[in-house]
Amino acid sequence: MAGQLEGKVAVVTGGASGIGRAIAELYAREGATVVVADLNEQAAKDVAASLAAAAQEHAAYAVDVTDAESTKSLAETVVSDLGRIDILVNSAGILTEIPFTELTPADFDKMIAVDLRSVFLCSRWVAPYMIQQGWGRIINIASQIGLKGGTGLAHYAAAKAGVIGMTKSMARELAEHNVLVNAIAPGPIVTPLLGDLSDEWRAEKQAELPLGRFGTAEEVAPTALLLASSPGGDLYMGQTLGPNSGDVMP
Ligand code: NAD
Repeated sequence: MAGQLEGKVAVVTGGASGIGRAIAELYAREGATVVVADLNEQAAKDVAASLAAAAQEHAAYAVDVTDAESTKSLAETVVSDLGRIDILVNSAGILTEIPFTELTPADFDKMIAVDLRSVFLCSRWVAPYMIQQGWGRIINIASQIGLKGGTGLAHYAAAKAGVIGMTKSMARELAEHNVLVNAIAPGPIVTPLLGDLSDEWRAEKQAELPLGRFGTAEEVAPTALLLASSPGGDLYMGQTLGPNSGDVMP
């Protein structure tokens, strides 16, 4: 049986780890040619190689999503090498926990660069190719923190709230070109990203969760498949879906 993403080219930033990796793996199983784009070039190559063993050839690119030239070159090189970009998943990100009164301007700027400006840059360079094709799907990985806030996470919340606002605006502008833009705002998911957070935060968070446990990256990936697939995802635009949050998103 043909996969749901047969013939599609999908670029997954942050695809070398965690949620991005699980999405890359599911997309590959569904027949997409996947470009694993990550700052960690070796890990991106390893993931792309592991995908290739399961299906067709995939690719790895080193990218710094905070850098305008690096992201532009990613889009241009993928189109030159593979002919198109149908799906962009903006999953690259970082998380630091810093009390507000200790947060420095440099901490704040770094978070905005990696978790928000990155989504602008990657989408900005990829969207024109999607418009030209008359089909595209952009999926931004936001966070519940962007909707609810979090202690020690003002900078992260600002970046993720920005991602949600930008998603809604991009969705309005690009829908007429059949380029649909949505965000996923997961609750806590077990990945290396959570490694540095305090035990206190983890315990408090776990108690709030309806399932009483953190989610897995593999449990988030099917939402990204829904939003990338046709006809399954064809009516979603400007939405924020929230796996492992207990919320029904508008
Ligand atoms: P992760 O640390 O497992 O993966 C993040 C990936 O992004 C890594 O491979 C890293 O190398 C890459 N990356 C970091 N900076 C980069 C840069 N400048 N350029 C290119 N790549 C870069 O984390 P994850 O949990 O899979 O997080 C993925 C996304 O999901 C992030 O945007 C994160 O904020 C979001 N998120 C995570 C959780 C969670 O609980 N894990 C919850 C909600 C949202």
